Amino acid sequence: MIPIPPFPSPSAYLFQTKKLFLHGNISDCNVESRFSSEKEKEFKSLFAGIISSEDFDDTSADKTLFEKLILAPFPVLQKIHKKFHEHQFQTQIIKNERKIWVVKDEWRIFLKAYDRLVSRHLNSWLVDQYGIKCCPYCNENFVFNRGDKASAQLDHFFPKDKYPLFAVSLYNLVPACPACNHIKRESMLGVSPHDNKRDFDQMRISYTPKVSSWMLDHHTLDVIFRFGSSGEDREFEQDMKKNIACLKLEPAYQNHRDYVQEIVNKAFWYNDAATEAFRNSLPGVFGSEGEMLRMVFGNYAEPKDFLKRPLSKLTRDLLLELGVLNMTKKRQGDT
Ligand SMILES: [Zn+2]
Repeated sequence: MIPIPPFPSPSAYLFQTKKLFLHGNISDCNVESRFSSEKEKEFKSLFAGIISSEDFDDTSADKTLFEKLILAPFPVLQKIHKKFHEHQFQTQIIKNERKIWVVKDEWRIFLKAYDRLVSRHLNSWLVDQYGIKCCPYCNENFVFNRGDKASAQLDHFFPKDKYPLFAVSLYNLVPACPACNHIKRESMLGVSPHDNKRDFDQMRISYTPKVSSWMLDHHTLDVIFRFGSSGEDREFEQDMKKNIACLKLEPAYQNHRDYVQEIVNKAFWYNDAATEAFRNSLPGVFGSEGEMLRMVFGNYAEPKDFLKRPLSKLTRDLLLELGVLNMTKKRQGDT
C-alpha cells in the first residue's frame, strides 16, 4: 500500500463534476452561475438532517456543502461515513435481485454523475494528473495510460453502491490496477492510500527462509508483511492486515520470491570495495550513490518514487533490512 500525493488540480475536478450534474451541453462560462442557481437548493434538501457544515474541517463560508463534499480530504469522508453508521441512516434496497443497504436512495444521482465522468475518461485524467505509474494498492502492476486508453480502473474506497453520496468525491477514488479493483469489489478495506494521517512505513515487506539452503532455491523462502515490534500503532496494523487479506497480497507477493532472492544476492556483494571498483571501471557512468544503487538493484528506493515503478516498496524495505541503504547514506556523507 502506497500513499497517493494530494491531487494537483482540485478546482478543475470540481468544475468538471459540476458540469456533469447540470446535464446537457452547456458552455464552460455558464457552469458556475447555473450551478448555484439551479442546484444549490436541490443539494441542500438532499443533505438535510444528515450532512452539515460542521462535518467539514474547511469552515470557509464561500464554499457550498456540495463543493466541500466533492473535495473533502479522506479523514473527513471517514468521519461522515462513521456518522452514517452511528445514526443508522441506511435503508435497504434491491439491486440485481440482491438486497443492499444504502445510506439514502435519492443520493443515487451521484452514481449517474460518476458514470458520466468515467465515460469522459476520468480514470486516465486522474492518472495523468497524479503522475502515477503503478497501483497504490499492490505496487505490483502498472496503471499508466496507453495513448487515449486507460489501464487504471477507479476503485471507490467506500463502495459506491452502498455509499452513493461519495461516488464522485475525489478522495474516495483510487486509480487501481484491474486485479486489485476486481478482487476488492465492494469490500471495505482498512486503510486508504488517500489517508495522509497514517504512517505507511510501519508496514514493511520482508522474507523468511524456510530452510538453511534457501539461497539455492527461491521456492524455499516466504515473502511476508511485518509491522513494528514496539506496537506503536496497533490500529494501523489491524487495518493494514485487513487490506493485505482482502486484496490477497500475501499470495500475490509469493510470486516475487525470485526477485527477493536476487536483491539479497546483490546486497551480499554490494559493499564499499565493489562500488569503488564499479566507479573506477566505469568512470562518469554513475552520477551519484543513488544512481548506482538504482542501476544495480533495478528500482527506485525512495518513498517519494514508490508510484513510479512496481515493487519499489519491496525493494526499499529489503535494502533497509539488509543494511544497504544505511551503507549508501554513510558513503554519501563521507564524500
Ligand atoms: Zn493493484
